[in-house]
Amino acid sequence: MAFDDQFDVVVVGSGAGALTGAYLAARAGLRTAVVEAADRLGGTSAYSGAACWLPGTQVQERFGVADSTAAAREYLRALLGEDRTGRQEAFLAKAPELVAALEADPALEFEWRAFPDYFDRPGRVPGGRSFVPVDLPLSELGERAELVRPPVDRDRAGRGHRDAPLDGGRALIGRLLLAFDATGNGTVFTSTPVDELVVENGRVVGVGPRRIGATYGVLIGAGGFERNADLREQSGVPGSAAWSMAPAETNRGQVLAAAIALGAAVDLMDEGWWCPGIAMPDGGASFTLGFRGGLVVDRDGRRYANESLPYDQMGREMAADPARRIPSHIVFDSREGGRLPAIALPGGRPDDHLAAGTWVEADTLAELAKLIDAPELPETVARFNSFAEAGHDADFGRGEDEYARHFANPVLVPVDRPPFRAARLVLSDLGTKGGLVTDPDARVLREDGSAVEGLYAVGNSAASMTGGYYPGPGIPLGTAMAFAARAVDDLVARAGS
Ligand SMILES: Cc1cc2nc3c(=O)[nH]c(=O)nc-3n(C[C@H](O)[C@H](O)[C@H](O)COP(=O)(O)OP(=O)(O)OC[C@H]3O[C@@H](n4cnc5c(N)ncnc54)[C@H](O)[C@@H]3O)c2cc1C
Repeated sequence: MAFDDQFDVVVVGSGAGALTGAYLAARAGLRTAVVEAADRLGGTSAYSGAACWLPGTQVQERFGVADSTAAAREYLRALLGEDRTGRQEAFLAKAPELVAALEADPALEFEWRAFPDYFDRPGRVPGGRSFVPVDLPLSELGERAELVRPPVDRDRAGRGHRDAPLDGGRALIGRLLLAFDATGNGTVFTSTPVDELVVENGRVVGVGPRRIGATYGVLIGAGGFERNADLREQSGVPGSAAWSMAPAETNRGQVLAAAIALGAAVDLMDEGWWCPGIAMPDGGASFTLGFRGGLVVDRDGRRYANESLPYDQMGREMAADPARRIPSHIVFDSREGGRLPAIALPGGRPDDHLAAGTWVEADTLAELAKLIDAPELPETVARFNSFAEAGHDADFGRGEDEYARHFANPVLVPVDRPPFRAARLVLSDLGTKGGLVTDPDARVLREDGSAVEGLYAVGNSAASMTGGYYPGPGIPLGTAMAFAARAVDDLVARAGS
C-alpha cells in the first residue's frame, strides 16, 4: 500500500482527546501525526472552559478537594447505573495515572477551580472536583500560537487571540501542543481533512484522501457530527446545525461515516451535550449558562423548568417539548442595565439584538407579552415575583441546589423594573455525543462486539460513556482525554509486541 507519509500512529482531529493521545503516543516514542481538517487546532475544545472532570488525581489532592476515585465511582454509579461499567472503571482507573503523566511534563500544569457537579447524588464533591489548565503566556507558544483556535467570540468575528495569556481551552490545546512538539516525534498536518480509512489485511493502516500510513493504528478524535444538518436529521438530533457551538466549518462526521462503512457500530446517535442558546442576529446561537435573574417562558408565556438547572438539563427540558419550548424567551428587567442576567458566549451587544429583533423591549409586561405572542406572561411573572419575595420557588425549586447558587445567590430575583426585555432562546449544543461504540481501551467495535483492528475513537466521535447524562463540568474533555490515554496504552503494547 503506497502512502505519501508513514507514521506509527495517526491521530485524526486536534481537540483535547486527540492531542492528549498524540502527545502520549509521541512521548512513548511512537512517531505520531496529528491530521486536522481545519487550518487551526483545537476544534470545540479550544472554545471550551477546559474544565476537566478527571477524579481522584494529584490536582484535587494538592488543592485540598475532598475527592477520591471511590467517591467519583459512587457518583457515576448513582447517576448512570450499571450501564457501561467497564468503561466507567477504565476511566476511573486511568484518570489519576493520566494526570500524573501529564503533570510530569513541564508544559502541563492544572489548577482546581470551583464548579459544582451537576447532580445532587451521593459522591458529589462540594464545590466540584474538576480542574483547568494554568493560563499560558502567548510568548511560550511563540509562532505556534497562530495554530491554536482563538476563543469563540473572536473566532466567529474572524479575529485572533487577545494580547493576553491563553486561558481555558486555548491554554489546554496550547499546552498539549507544546508538550507534543517537545517530544520530537510529532508532526502536525493542518487543512488536511480525512474521509477515508485505509484497510489492509483486515486492519486500519492509514487515512485518506491524503494518504498517511499508521503502522500501529489510527485514533479518531474528530468531534461529533453537530455541524452536519442531514446526519442530525437522520439521527433524530434535536436543535439545529446552525445553533451548535462547534466551529462552523468543522465536525460533519466524515470519519464517523468512514468507520461505519467498515462495519463499526454506533450508539446514542440522537444525543448531544445540550445548552440553552441565545439566538444571535446572524442565525447562530450562543451557549448560555448561569442565569442570575429573569425567568424562562414557553410559547404561551409559561415557565416550565428551574432556569438555574445545569445547562444540559435545561436544554433537555427544552427538547422535551420542542413545539412549545423552541424557541423560548428569557424575560428580564433593567436591573443589570438591560444586559442579559446570565453568561452568554458570545453575548452580542443588547442594541444589536434589539435591532435584529432577537430581543424585544417594552415598558410593561402586557406589551412585552404581545411582542412575543405569549399571553400568559404577565400572570407568570406575577407568580414568579411572589416566589422571589418569599425566597422559595414553589413550582420548580430554583435556587435550592448548590449549582444554581454558584453563579449568584439569590437567583430568585423579582422581574419588576421596567423596561422589560425578552431574549429569544433556542436549543444549542456543545456537540453531539453519539458515535462509534468503543471498548474500555477506546477500540472501535462492530455490532458483534469484535474490534475493528487498528481503529480507536474518543471524544464526541465515540458514543459517550455517560449516555443521556452530563454528570459534571469537564466530563466531555475528561473522558476524551482518559480514553485517549487508554488507546495509547493499547497502541504502545501493540508496538512492543
Ligand atoms: C463555550 C464552550 C465551553 C465548554 N466548556 C467545556 C468545559 O469546560 N469542559 C468540558 O469538558 N467540555 C466543555 N465544552 C464541551 C467540549 O468543548 C466539547 O464537547 C469537546 O471539546 C469535544 O471534543 P472533541 O475532541 O470530540 O471535538 P473537537 O474539540 O471539536 O475536535 C474535533 C477536531 O476534529 C477536526 N475534524 C473534524 N472532522 C475532521 C476530518 N474529517 N478530518 C480531520 N479533522 C477533522 C475538527 O476540525 C476539530 O478540530 C464546552 C464547549 C463550549 C462550546
